Amino acid sequence: MKTNYGEVFEKELIKEEDLGFGVFEPPEKAPPLYNLRLDFKNGKWGEFSVRNDPFIVLRIEAGIFHYGHEWFEGMVAHMTKDRRCLLFRAKENAKRAEKSSQVLCMEPVPKKLFLEGIKAAVKLNAAYLPRYGTGGRLYIRPFLIGTNPQLGLGESRDFTFIVFCYPVGNYYPTGLKPMKLYCSPAFDRVAQCSTGQAKAGGNYAASYRSKQFAKSKGCGEYLYLDPTEHKFIAETGSANFFALRENKVYVTPDEPSVLQSITNDSLAAIAKELMGFTIEKRKLTWRELLERGCLSEFLEAGLCGTAARLTPVESIIYEDERQALRIERIFPKVREGNAPWCQELYARLKNLQHGDEEDRWGWTMEVD
Ligand code: PLP
Repeated sequence: MKTNYGEVFEKELIKEEDLGFGVFEPPEKAPPLYNLRLDFKNGKWGEFSVRNDPFIVLRIEAGIFHYGHEWFEGMVAHMTKDRRCLLFRAKENAKRAEKSSQVLCMEPVPKKLFLEGIKAAVKLNAAYLPRYGTGGRLYIRPFLIGTNPQLGLGESRDFTFIVFCYPVGNYYPTGLKPMKLYCSPAFDRVAQCSTGQAKAGGNYAASYRSKQFAKSKGCGEYLYLDPTEHKFIAETGSANFFALRENKVYVTPDEPSVLQSITNDSLAAIAKELMGFTIEKRKLTWRELLERGCLSEFLEAGLCGTAARLTPVESIIYEDERQALRIERIFPKVREGNAPWCQELYARLKNLQHGDEEDRWGWTMEVD
C-alpha cells in the first residue's frame, strides 16, 4: 500500500507555515507521533518497540543523569514533487553516531539497526512529512543514553537507543535571514583533543553560556576559535562556518575541535562540482578572515547544518577584552541584501534534497 505522506497538512490540521523548530504536540484529531526504542542489555541489542508517548522511566542513578552519557544525531526527510519521501545522507549520520559512541565509550548502534530505526520512524510518522514546496521537512532525532544505575564515575553498561521525529520549519526565528556573529577567545565549546567530533549532549550544555554572551552583544551566535591558541576560526554551537572568497574559493576550517558537518560536506561538493569553486578545508586565522587590508577578500560567509540549513553571515564582531581589541567585519554582498553564492548553494542543496536536482552523489534514500 502506498504511504500517504503529509496527511495532517493535507487535512489542514496544522499548517506548514506555523512550524518552527521546537517541541511539537500533535493537534487534536491528528494521529499520534510515534517513537522507536531499542535497549542494549546484558551485552546484546533487543528488538525495536514502538511507542506513541514521549515518556521514559529510568532509575535516578542512570549514567545519562549524572555524567551526561549521551549522544544524539539530527537528520531530515523531504517530500518530492510526486509525494515521495527522501532521507538525506542518513548513512553519514550512522557513521557519525558510531564515531560518537567511540569517543564517548558507549555501545555503538550497528549501522543496520540505526538505519532500520530511522526508516521505520519516518514511515510511522508519514502523516507529518511537510508537503513539497512549503519549506517544511521532517526532522529525525536519534539518540543513545546510558541507562544502568551507577554512582561512581564510569562508563554505562546498558543503553537505550531512541528515534523520534518532528515536522519542522526554520531553526532560527529570523528564518534564513543574515546573522551577526560574535567571535572571541573568552569561551571555548570543547577542548582540543576531546569530544568536539562527537555529538555529545554535554558539548551543547557547555555552549549555552557563550551563546547568551553573544546575544548580550547583539549577535545571534557565538563563533568559537580553536581552544588551544585562539588563533583559528572553528564553528558555532550548532553549525559549521564557511567563507567564500573572490575568485570562487570556498574556505572552511579544518580543526580537531569541530564537528564534521554533513551539510558542510554537501555544500562543498556542490560548490566544487556544480559551481566551479575551489575548496580549501584548512586552518583559517581570525586575522585572515576579519582584518581589513589583508590579501584575501571574503565576500560572503555562512553557517551550515541540518537544522540551521544555510544562514548567511552578515558580519562578525571580534572582541578580545583583555587586549581591549574590537573589530567588526562586514561581508559586503550579504549586507547589501544579496548573497548570490549562498543563495545558489542553498537552492541547489534544497533542490537535491527534494529530488528536483540530479543526485549524482547518491545522497538521498527513498523511504517507500
Ligand atoms: N556543528 C555542530 C556543533 C552541530 O551541532 C551541528 C549540527 O548537527 C553541525 C555543526 C552541523 O552538522 P550537520 O550538517 O551534520 O547537521
